[in-house]
Amino acid sequence: MRKFFLVLCLVAESVFAQQTYTVESVPNVKVAENRLVSDPEKILNEATVARLDRQLAELESATTSQVAVVVLPSIGTQDIFQFAQELFVHWGIGQASNDNGLLILLVMDQRTVRFHTGHGLEGMLPDVVCKRIQEQYMVPLFREGKNDEALIAGVEEVVRILTDPVYAVEIRGQAEGPPLWDLVYPMVLSVGGLVLLIVFLIRRRHFSDSPKALSTPYSEMRLSRLQWLLEFGGLPALILVGLDNSGMDSPWLPAGVGLYGYFLLTLLHKRLRMRTVVDRLVEQKKFKRTVEFFEEYRTGWLVSAIFFPLPFLIHYPMYLRRMTFYRNHPRDCEKCGKPVRKLDERADDAYLTKAKVFEEGLKSVDYDVWLCDHCGTYFELMYPNRSSKYTHCPKCKTKAWYLKSNRTLVSPTTSSSGTGEKVHECKFCGHQVVSRYTIAQLSDSSSSGGGGSSGGSFGGGSSGGGGASSSW
Ligand SMILES: [Zn+2]
Ligand SMILES: [Zn+2]
Repeated sequence: MRKFFLVLCLVAESVFAQQTYTVESVPNVKVAENRLVSDPEKILNEATVARLDRQLAELESATTSQVAVVVLPSIGTQDIFQFAQELFVHWGIGQASNDNGLLILLVMDQRTVRFHTGHGLEGMLPDVVCKRIQEQYMVPLFREGKNDEALIAGVEEVVRILTDPVYAVEIRGQAEGPPLWDLVYPMVLSVGGLVLLIVFLIRRRHFSDSPKALSTPYSEMRLSRLQWLLEFGGLPALILVGLDNSGMDSPWLPAGVGLYGYFLLTLLHKRLRMRTVVDRLVEQKKFKRTVEFFEEYRTGWLVSAIFFPLPFLIHYPMYLRRMTFYRNHPRDCEKCGKPVRKLDERADDAYLTKAKVFEEGLKSVDYDVWLCDHCGTYFELMYPNRSSKYTHCPKCKTKAWYLKSNRTLVSPTTSSSGTGEKVHECKFCGHQVVSRYTIAQLSDSSSSGGGGSSGGSFGGGSSGGGGASSSW
């Protein structure tokens, strides 16, 4: 009877008395055996440990990301977050250069699993994603006591995210998508509606059916109020509502595509309207007007080429060619009706004033001189360069006025403002204007730096405490 009691005590001890681990007493299997799964009490099956070790070694050689799995019966009353942080730093999980380490810590008596990430993995494995993996793939199995299956499932997800960029984006979208979308969607609708109303009021005299419409030589460019509201309010709102009701897990990509397509459509519509203006001007033989019209909208199309390279990067050079085409378009003498010819840049100097020749030299204005060989009449057409740094001189009106110098006379400090001096000059007549201005005083600023830590045969990565814990 006594012997039986002793045996019972021994059995009870082996079942209930668990060894409490400290950060120092957890066996560092990476150093000892170059493995990544530390399970000192053999809580997992040998086959599971071997499988995880192999998977994580493959992950490390493929991506350099280091994932360590630690399974402990108990850490006593120590806080799992604190314990994970200390163990992470003690071992130095992840490469020191990019801190791409992850510690998966399972503490049996606390019924808690923690993912502790290094700085370098916080992007791919943000806290929400860690939490999602735990809650979706691990906690349900832990609840059934299937510790091996739970860890296998968790590691499987982690490996997939760290090796498959497409899947990583997907899982991030699932973890973050809907809540953020639910937040952004009503905001875009309400703010968009308000902006639409404001722009509508600002533009109220620029619609084709405005009561007191401002005059424009290019009336075909204008939309009626209803057309404008439908194109800039109704259509985007329809796309947004459609996306929201599509029931997609992550509507971000379709939203991006939809946005691109939408802007493309409005731009193409604008181009179509431009075409009707050009057709009319050409029919009226107003070739200079046509060039001016192209020039007026040129910057807009350049911006479109930058933001919507497809198709506007191809469109832009064609646009410029079209502009040149109309500039050189054959025209007739206004006096005798016979065709005139355009003089080349050198020949036209004889017909221009000194100031105009000078402007051509500065490329601030370009002049075309057309000569009628039949009756000797000539006329000049002026094409100002909109991107020129020169403006008109206040004295001689030549477009040769520019900022010659801009220097600081007194530097501003954190306690007082400074003084600057600008000199404008006309390159043609030499007229000069000197003006002084105040430079605002400086504001205080400070900066701080950070460092990493190193250790063991792990790469020496450090953690900023990112990750997540789940209990059951
Ligand atoms: Zn003539
Ligand atoms: Zn001048």
